[in-house]
Amino acid sequence: MTQTLERTAHSTITEWLASFQAALDAGDARAAAELFGTDSYWRDLIAFTWNIVTVEGPSGVRELLSANLERVQPSGFAVADDLGEPTDADGVAESWIRFETAVGRGVGQLRLKDGKAWTLLTTMYELKGHEEPSRDRRPKGAEHGANPNRQTWLEKQQAEAEQLGYTTQPYTVIVGGGQGGIALGARLRQLGVPTIIIDRNPRPGDAWRNRYKSLCLHDPVWYDHLPYIDFPKNWPVFAPKDKIGDWLEMYAKVMELNYWGSTECKNATYHEETGEWSVVVEREGIEVTLRPKQLVLATGMSGKANVPNFEGMDVFRGDQHHSSKHPGPDAYRGKRAVVIGANNSAHDICAALWEGGADVTMVQRSSTHILRSESLLTTVLGGLYSEDAVESGMTTQKADLTFASLPYRIMHEFQIPVYDEVRKNDADFYTRLGAAGFMLDYGDDDSGLFMKYLRRGSGYYIDVGASELVANGDIKLESGVDVVRLTETGVLLTNGKELPADVVVYATGYGSMNGWAADLISQEVADKVGKVWGLGSDTTKDPGPWEGEQRNMWKPTQQESLWFHGGNLHQSRHYSLYLALQLKARMEGIPTPVYGLQEVHHLS
Ligand SMILES: Cc1cc2nc3c(=O)[nH]c(=O)nc-3n(C[C@H](O)[C@H](O)[C@H](O)COP(=O)(O)OP(=O)(O)OC[C@H]3O[C@@H](n4cnc5c(N)ncnc54)[C@H](O)[C@@H]3O)c2cc1C
Repeated sequence: MTQTLERTAHSTITEWLASFQAALDAGDARAAAELFGTDSYWRDLIAFTWNIVTVEGPSGVRELLSANLERVQPSGFAVADDLGEPTDADGVAESWIRFETAVGRGVGQLRLKDGKAWTLLTTMYELKGHEEPSRDRRPKGAEHGANPNRQTWLEKQQAEAEQLGYTTQPYTVIVGGGQGGIALGARLRQLGVPTIIIDRNPRPGDAWRNRYKSLCLHDPVWYDHLPYIDFPKNWPVFAPKDKIGDWLEMYAKVMELNYWGSTECKNATYHEETGEWSVVVEREGIEVTLRPKQLVLATGMSGKANVPNFEGMDVFRGDQHHSSKHPGPDAYRGKRAVVIGANNSAHDICAALWEGGADVTMVQRSSTHILRSESLLTTVLGGLYSEDAVESGMTTQKADLTFASLPYRIMHEFQIPVYDEVRKNDADFYTRLGAAGFMLDYGDDDSGLFMKYLRRGSGYYIDVGASELVANGDIKLESGVDVVRLTETGVLLTNGKELPADVVVYATGYGSMNGWAADLISQEVADKVGKVWGLGSDTTKDPGPWEGEQRNMWKPTQQESLWFHGGNLHQSRHYSLYLALQLKARMEGIPTPVYGLQEVHHLS
């Protein structure tokens, strides 16, 4: 029975692809568009548009093709049998696909409903003539034969490191050498794009090392691999922050990155006449001006601390700091701690302070989405990123592409039932938290963690133990209140209570990444580029209009040659590929007309 269904799915998909290809060959955008259902979505990751874009319905498809078909010359649309058999379930035929364009090779995913396209994902994975040197194209390493001018690998590395940035210029400068800058740098190295990554911290991995000492990744290992080198099979499910730091340091070394530690970017200016940036950096105390063609800000979406400005902060006599500067609990045994905020960092810090013997109060202003780590692993991520998924043949590439194939416009519809199940399974847990006064939510439309992350990058805690302490009162809670002001000895709340405090931690989150552009380039450029992150879902902290994709991430911005890169380990791994290819194509002079350059609706 399954085999018959699979054959049917195969032929349904093959027939659709043949019609699509025929319409493309005929240059007939209208005919191609008619193959899409009324409610349909085509997500393109640079293959057709040199942009990250989702178009909707036959009219969106027609416009996309009318603008790009002649240049793109798509060919070879076919089922990608090597990635798995097409399937047919609940009226949806689904298949991996492959195709080519004039300049690149692509892979994607197609879903058909009633014979018409419902979702189509097209992604470019390599540029023709610029394939990565891997497998049978790998470098030889040894240079056999006799050569009196022989340079060893080490000598070449050293020469490059001495020259790049001084006597030769990098094509790309990446500001920020966290996991984002490092993953992108690795891809650019493989693509032969001369790149310098700069970071004010001395060593790769320091961004993780510098965080509060109890931190372990909240996402499991299967979700976290970097490009090219997977974590080993004995790697912990939730890596401790210092272990991730060491991995990144090792990775930067073996991926041969030009990593300038202890280097701070002071400012950057774009010169339109020359199409070049001047990026002023201070490297170990010495000023150097770099002149790249492309500038990537990988300065972290959890990097620009939102420090509140409460009255009385200047008179408070205890310690006070943003969560990103929290040193850990050691100095606070027997002390009174007030943590302002109720999301991830607030929970982790409260739990560590409680373990360290402090008297802890969490101040919750508005509701938080809590997801038990166990439920994240099983109910939410399990199908794509887990040991079971690996055993059933799921690869990181397929998981990433499957995730990417769900258009943001309808992603919440897939998420809502998942979180309905989570709520049912974890009903006792949520009831106990609610009874303790904790204000819970599941997202504005009950679509849970990922949608909150994609829309606003905040408002949640993946519970690894702190919620139990809140529920049983070990971590005291003041909810539905705000801070009126700090006094010399504590925190005065809107409910009239004054919480005595020896330390106040502001776990108040992070600001939009275009704030980095304001700091390093100019307010004018920051405003030109607009808000970074979010979808325009018109939900809390993600104002409309609908934008279809995450604002400004991994794709061209309104400022020529300025890019933003980052996100969690999964996004950083997956989207660094498309950003790297966009940069490589520009370096090689391949025309990259951008379709659907995003408009700016919000400044921050
Ligand atoms: C408490 C906490 C827990 C998290 N848990 C997870 C998790 O489990 N899984 C996950 O995937 N993500 C997690 N994240 C999100 C995490 O921030 C990102 O995944 C990761 O740090 C992003 O990497 P990045 O390279 O984009 O930015 P960052 O790691 O923030 O790196 C940015 C770098 O830019 C450098 N920089 C900034 N300005 C300059 C300048 N002017 N000059 C030179 N260098 C500069 C900084 O020194 C820093 O090293 C967590 C974040 C926090 C705060």
